[in-house]
Amino acid sequence: MKIARIIMGLSLDKPFDYLIPTELESQVHAGVQVYVPFGKSQRRGYVVAVNNESLYPVDKLKRIDSVCEVHPKIPDTLLKLGKWISEYYCCSQEQSVRALLPAAVRSGKIKRKSIKLYFLGSPEEAQKYIFDKPKKSPARVKIIQLLLQHPGASSEFIRRETAAGKSVLTALVKEKIVIEENKEVYRNPFANIEYVKSTPPELTEEQKTSVDKISEMMEPSVPKPHTLLLYGVTGSGKTEVYLRAIANAIRQGKDSIVLVPEISLTPQTTERFRSRFGDMVSVLHSSLRDGERFDEWTKIFRSQVKIVVGARSALFAPFKNLGLIIVDEEHENSYKQDEAPRYHARDVAVMRGYMEKAVVILGSATPSFESYHNAMTGKYAMVRLTKRVDDCVMPKIRIVDMNTEKLKTGGKIFSGELVEEIRRRLEKAEQTIIFLNRKGFATRMVCNKCGLIATCDNCTQNYTYSRKRESLSCHLCGIVIPAFKSCPKCGDPGIRYSGLGTEKIDSIAAELFPRAKIARMDSDTMTHPDSYDKVLGDFRVGKIDILIGTQMIAKGLDFPNVTLVGIINADLGLYIPDFRAEERTFQLLTQVAGRSGRGDIPGEVLIQSFTSHNTSIQCSKNNDYLKFYNDQVAVRKKLNYPPFSHLIAVHFRGPDEAQIAKFADEFLEKLRPHISKDIKVAGPLPSTIARIKTKFRYVIMFRGDRMKEFREALREQVLHSKCPKDIDCYADVDAVNMM
Ligand code: ADP
Ligand code: ZN
Repeated sequence: MKIARIIMGLSLDKPFDYLIPTELESQVHAGVQVYVPFGKSQRRGYVVAVNNESLYPVDKLKRIDSVCEVHPKIPDTLLKLGKWISEYYCCSQEQSVRALLPAAVRSGKIKRKSIKLYFLGSPEEAQKYIFDKPKKSPARVKIIQLLLQHPGASSEFIRRETAAGKSVLTALVKEKIVIEENKEVYRNPFANIEYVKSTPPELTEEQKTSVDKISEMMEPSVPKPHTLLLYGVTGSGKTEVYLRAIANAIRQGKDSIVLVPEISLTPQTTERFRSRFGDMVSVLHSSLRDGERFDEWTKIFRSQVKIVVGARSALFAPFKNLGLIIVDEEHENSYKQDEAPRYHARDVAVMRGYMEKAVVILGSATPSFESYHNAMTGKYAMVRLTKRVDDCVMPKIRIVDMNTEKLKTGGKIFSGELVEEIRRRLEKAEQTIIFLNRKGFATRMVCNKCGLIATCDNCTQNYTYSRKRESLSCHLCGIVIPAFKSCPKCGDPGIRYSGLGTEKIDSIAAELFPRAKIARMDSDTMTHPDSYDKVLGDFRVGKIDILIGTQMIAKGLDFPNVTLVGIINADLGLYIPDFRAEERTFQLLTQVAGRSGRGDIPGEVLIQSFTSHNTSIQCSKNNDYLKFYNDQVAVRKKLNYPPFSHLIAVHFRGPDEAQIAKFADEFLEKLRPHISKDIKVAGPLPSTIARIKTKFRYVIMFRGDRMKEFREALREQVLHSKCPKDIDCYADVDAVNMM
């Protein structure tokens, strides 16, 4: 009898063996979900392998009860990828297998949807019926005539066209003149959305070179590298290159996956793919209902679509003939999942591409240092788009030194220059974007008398104050309380608010430009699922003059009438204790600046900064990625930080600080024998944010070049060694969040 190795829906990181009853042998393969007896109950599990022998005594093995019919098997290639994820990211096998399937598919609860369709039993008989029968009911005749023309009509269609009652149809079915058939249908969120077919534009020279390079890489005979960095400035037409590469994949009969950051998965983005490829595109949006998601997955699995566009998890689309994976805005941190499995979708994309011999395109205007480094060392190929399409010029960027400004105006939030430029835009009916990467009215509530700064009871975090809601809220745990009328410590009513947020910018702008139409886009105002589309729609048609927002507006928006972008407090992100702080600042400023001047009128950008000499600010002003990269990478190299090393963080969380501190020390001691000389260890130390939701946080950082053996030992220790009940301990491999 064959033996199935099965992973249960429990995070034990341990497969179990079960006997495959002969009658199920033809149905049980790796990737299939089965029901098995487990302890006293029955559980679902995934078969990950079918073997002839077992690690355990065969006479002790139980048998598989049945095969779960609802969801088809996970393709072998994905199972292999899941195994790699579990090993590389030090998470349990169950966690990685779970990531391969959307919850709607995994649950086994969603059923296929079907509708009844109606046909004539025999068209000849039916025609005879119309002519021969002396006392015919007119309703019956109408239905028959309709079905002669539209075989396979739905009852809804029949009712609408003939106005005949349901009983007439039922009677015809009973007499076998009409037959009823169940047809499976897909729940399709786009069924009623029209899209206009787009014609591909003539490519620019640079685009052409890129497309050719990708085509060449897609030739099966061409050896490595299979990953290409498409480094193209904002507005250089990267999406068009993606579209051509996809068309090429389709010509070869291959499927494509397009990953975009969640925040960029807007109708505007998906429209560009649908208008080129129509129904061949499946969009995996987070707002899909379970039934819709189940059906999209099924369509992909059955190869009824050729292209999937979605955020991070779309990477696991169950295509069996993958030719291309595109990761747009590859530098985005949101590609790193911050719960287990803590994988980086860009890196897993490169791995999946390698395993399935698919070409991977990483696109960005500000490549991550990791990817650029890989391009420099020849691990990735690279092509560049240095110019915007249509001779559209890059925006002119100016820095406003706010220290000088402070001397001049006494510390106004909008510099004189910014006010002047906005005013000019209003006169010319052009649009302005104002960016500040912080929401709220103020980020600190301070008592004038005792100096208390109000902080969350559960977290190491200042409350953010909202004037509109008269409330204080914590970004970390989400708690919202009414704003204090007096200091909660000394009772003094003299309360001061400081630290700037978008809500305040909004109110200042309203005072400065009373006649302008102003809208704000941040997580406080975008509370309804439709609010995002509504504001962008209004902005597009010119109902809004000034759009204020956090990083929600930084990415991907393409509004030709925006000719001014103002960046307030450009240095905000620099004061974070993270070795990538400057890289992020550069990326963010470049992205925001790229929103300006995308139409016929050249754009301008004003960067307000208190540290205008800073490299990341200077280089984004000059649009000089290379200088920035070279500057920064020199430092990274000296300190052996990524991209020259890998960084693994091990986190500890718990309610008792002394207990986690002690446990973290012991954890490190136990791991010591596996830490080679070239691996640097920092910690254990309290994390930068020392407490969230009443849990204390400790971290140990490991940095090294060759980490494979260490990672294996770490994985074993994290998943299989004893850990006190209230302590949560996990590894974050290639961590991007240093807080
Ligand atoms: P990126 O993603 O590099 O920022 P986009 O792909 O959004 O740039 O392109 C910017 C604009 O240029 C879009 O409106 C796009 O339709 C247009 N565009 C791209 N390629 C061409 C081309 N070859 N000819 C004309 N317009 C183009
Ligand atoms: Zn909190």
